[in-house]
Amino acid sequence: MDWRDTEDQQRFRGDVRTLITERLPERYVEMARSGSMPERAWENDRKSHDADALGAARDWHAALAEQRWVAPHWPSEYGGGGLGPMEQFILNQELAESGAPAVGGSGVQMLGPTLIMHGSEEQKAQYLPPILDAEVTWAQGYSEPGSGSDLASLTTRAVRDGDEFVLNGQKIWTSAAHTADAMFALVRTDPDAPKHRGISFVMIDDIHTPGITVRPLININGDHYFNEVFFEDVRIPARNLVGELNRGWYVGMTLLDFERSNIAGAVAARRQLRQLIEQIGNNAQGASERVRGPLRNEIAERWIETETLFQFSFRIISMQTAGLVPNYEASTAKLFASELNQRLALTATRVFGLHANHWSGAAPASTFTRNYIAMVPATIRGGTSEVQRNVIATRGLGLPRG
Ligand SMILES: Cc1cc2nc3c(=O)[nH]c(=O)nc-3n(C[C@H](O)[C@H](O)[C@H](O)COP(=O)(O)OP(=O)(O)OC[C@H]3O[C@@H](n4cnc5c(N)ncnc54)[C@H](O)[C@@H]3O)c2cc1C
Repeated sequence: MDWRDTEDQQRFRGDVRTLITERLPERYVEMARSGSMPERAWENDRKSHDADALGAARDWHAALAEQRWVAPHWPSEYGGGGLGPMEQFILNQELAESGAPAVGGSGVQMLGPTLIMHGSEEQKAQYLPPILDAEVTWAQGYSEPGSGSDLASLTTRAVRDGDEFVLNGQKIWTSAAHTADAMFALVRTDPDAPKHRGISFVMIDDIHTPGITVRPLININGDHYFNEVFFEDVRIPARNLVGELNRGWYVGMTLLDFERSNIAGAVAARRQLRQLIEQIGNNAQGASERVRGPLRNEIAERWIETETLFQFSFRIISMQTAGLVPNYEASTAKLFASELNQRLALTATRVFGLHANHWSGAAPASTFTRNYIAMVPATIRGGTSEVQRNVIATRGLGLPRG
């Protein structure tokens, strides 16, 4: 198989690289270089009181917006890039290689595509431009304390009262709700219907609406990344329903035609490995003396797996380019990438021996240690490894359920 770019693809890749070289703010270049880029760095910076952080968020957004690359997968009539899967793949690959932070958050990734498919013309006109202009960021309110993998069992209630819905219940693991301006959510509107058929998709325009409490959850890294969100008699306009009442399950599962190769995961793994090999080459903190026998073989294994992951990504993007819809193949890439990134992070800590006990200072060992901890949720978010294995077994291999 020849994976080389065609001439057009080469040109496009060149354009992306030029933009990154010329416009990626120094703050993000430095964070990427030192491995200190937090997740959702752009969303944090956008709300920062630090002039440098705020400026970086604005400049990087402006650079992408000029190319219409804030939402590359949205159709151009809605202000998106209208890019095909292969161009999206190249763009995502180059952005991931540079370590640039993603822009736009869940509004770009999830709400926008949902509105484009299911929203009314008024909703599209009202909500899409502020997402693209970075005026409003959105949090995703799906998971609840008792409903994660089995999301359709969610119980947050929305009851119609005149021209409004009244919301009561709780969401959890809501990423960036503390920096978001607004929130979309799946809520139960018919408790008597079969579980998938009593759910609706609603938008809460202002996350500070009376009755909403956003409570921080501090993760294992000590970072405030996600939250619990409580609803107590929260009133939202009934016109904020997206799609039909009680059809929210199907509305909430919209993906639009975006590339599903998880190339960013493959790039991240290769980057980690390259950085590790570089540090071994420098004999940082005695690394190269430790890399003998089994540990040397372990690193070779990680290299083979990293290359395998790239092949998964290429396979998926070639399917999408051929007009096919990856299903269990995307689960395979997600599962393999997340577990590989965890294995790789563990291998890296072994390379640094006792130095890996350091949480801060003591770089580079501590950088790899922090990455090891940061990788813990990779096999939970976006569908756990067990759920992905179920998908591969049943949809991919035709094995019986249960
Ligand atoms: C970093 C991070 C960010 C997140 N951000 C958001 C967000 O912004 N918005 C949002 O709504 N949610 C978010 N989530 C929540 C995420 O979607 C859920 O954590 C995930 O779907 C798993 O659900 P759960 O945590 O309730 O675990 P559970 O579903 O309770 O699973 C517990 C364990 O049981 C296993 N299990 C469950 N069902 C099966 C089965 N059928 N077969 C075999 N094993 C099974 C699971 O694999 C897991 O090991 C985030 C999670 C993380 C880690």
